[in-house]
Amino acid sequence: MAEQPLLVWFRQDLRLGDNPALHAAVSTGRPVIAVYVLDDGSAGEWKPGGASRWWLNRSLGALGESLAEQGSRLILRRGPARHVIPDLVAETGASGVFWNRLYEPQAIHRDSDLKAALKADGIQVHSFAGNLAFEPWTIMTGDGGPYRVFSPFMKACLRAEAPGRPLPRPVNWTMPDAWPRSDALDSWQLHPVAPDWSGGLQEHWTPGEAGATNRFLDFLDDRLDDYATARDSMEQETTSRLSAHLHYGEISVRTIWHTLAHRQAEGARSVDKFRAEVIWREFAHHLLFHYPSLPDANWRDTFDAFPWMDDVATYDAWCRGRTGYPLVDAGMAELWATGYMHNRVRMVAASFLVKHLMTHWKRGAEWFWDTLVDADLANNSASWQWVAGSGADAAPYFRVFNPVRQGERFDPAGVYVRRWVPALKDLPDKYIHAPWTAPDAVLRDAGVRLGGNYPRPVVDHAEARKRALAGYETMKQGSG
Ligand SMILES: Cc1cc2nc3c(=O)[nH]c(=O)nc-3n(C[C@H](O)[C@H](O)[C@H](O)COP(=O)(O)OP(=O)(O)OC[C@H]3O[C@@H](n4cnc5c(N)ncnc54)[C@H](O)[C@@H]3O)c2cc1C
Repeated sequence: MAEQPLLVWFRQDLRLGDNPALHAAVSTGRPVIAVYVLDDGSAGEWKPGGASRWWLNRSLGALGESLAEQGSRLILRRGPARHVIPDLVAETGASGVFWNRLYEPQAIHRDSDLKAALKADGIQVHSFAGNLAFEPWTIMTGDGGPYRVFSPFMKACLRAEAPGRPLPRPVNWTMPDAWPRSDALDSWQLHPVAPDWSGGLQEHWTPGEAGATNRFLDFLDDRLDDYATARDSMEQETTSRLSAHLHYGEISVRTIWHTLAHRQAEGARSVDKFRAEVIWREFAHHLLFHYPSLPDANWRDTFDAFPWMDDVATYDAWCRGRTGYPLVDAGMAELWATGYMHNRVRMVAASFLVKHLMTHWKRGAEWFWDTLVDADLANNSASWQWVAGSGADAAPYFRVFNPVRQGERFDPAGVYVRRWVPALKDLPDKYIHAPWTAPDAVLRDAGVRLGGNYPRPVVDHAEARKRALAGYETMKQGSG
């Protein structure tokens, strides 16, 4: 009789290297069937947004090719996993299902229900730690509670036992006698059509495990040494750009962790700083795990009394990069064109929305969710709440970023603004971050028509700042 296969359910771990679930399944010597389930129909979940679907499409294509190189296949099925996985178990006669754990509240619910149901039917279920360096319940305070502040969390991570060494890509695969049916990837229509707006994404990114590895190696060789000092500069690419690869698990955080340690031993600079950013990702997941309402509710409930204005016209101007503040508009244009925005600009653009425009951080988080290729529930929710002041270890509310000063500081020659807001490209450096201060003749020479080809500021910085701080006082009185 043919040996019963094992299913390996791929989710946010779209890689063959250092994939504990896959490694364990292949190591049994039993036939392995790799499956990905797209559940974009169920209500009430954060479904991948447009840019993320584009990435997923390419990443699944790459994973399918890597599996084909091993003589294997990626089986694609659509629908709620709680039905799809048991159906596939029944169809294939699989005796077990293996996966790597996720930490988002809905994924935890779904996975624990599914685990119980499968086990009740006598199916083995094995889940593994594969997506974080430290699982959220392993790093706890002395009182046994979750961390709420980043620095002690990071120290605790660095004191903890180091993450295990990355596992090699599995070899010696055993194939099943017959393959179950698979959907065609194209039939999922993850790639945008009518219009196809993905040209810029295509130009900037190579989703998949090979793309992730190459990007990491390029970063290590070209940019790691200067990362600590250069990461805030927007003029050139100074950071790793690994966020979307990490979100979809095309490279493992353990691989990053151990490679960094190795490079540090060889004398590489900036390793501590880069590792700290990777630990911010751990912290965001730690927060989401311990505070599952993070994407929906203020982490500090005093913010429930904040007098948001939620003005539709200025929100629309923000989304379209038409606020009249060049740095904000450049960031929003970069986001629209490439599915990415530099971290410093994310902070400035987000702060502008929640403080200058007094629009609820959730509106901003939703826009980012749809447009970022690296949209990630933990990182996005934690970061928006951090900027808004409502989050864990958040920036103090009264620190309102001045988009002009931020531009002058981190994009002094206006390289970033000129790249993403071509209407301003001929403006002298002196005015590039505040075109409304330029004399008429300068604007004319540069071909800038304020209120024409470039907007006037939608709010005055000083007034908006005052209004935001007054809103904060109202909130404190309202919640007190
Ligand atoms: C308002 C706002 C929303 C954000 N939304 C997301 C999001 O949806 N997805 C996302 O991955 N990041 C998000 N970030 C965090 C950060 O901006 C990006 O992770 C970073 O810009 C990605 O570029 P990189 O890979 O070159 O980062 P690098 O500087 O090279 O950092 C390496 C890795 O560390 C992690 N990291 C870095 N900064 C942070 C951070 N502040 N919080 C959590 N992890 C971090 C990322 O995984 C990143 O790939 C957001 C930040 C802000 C201010």
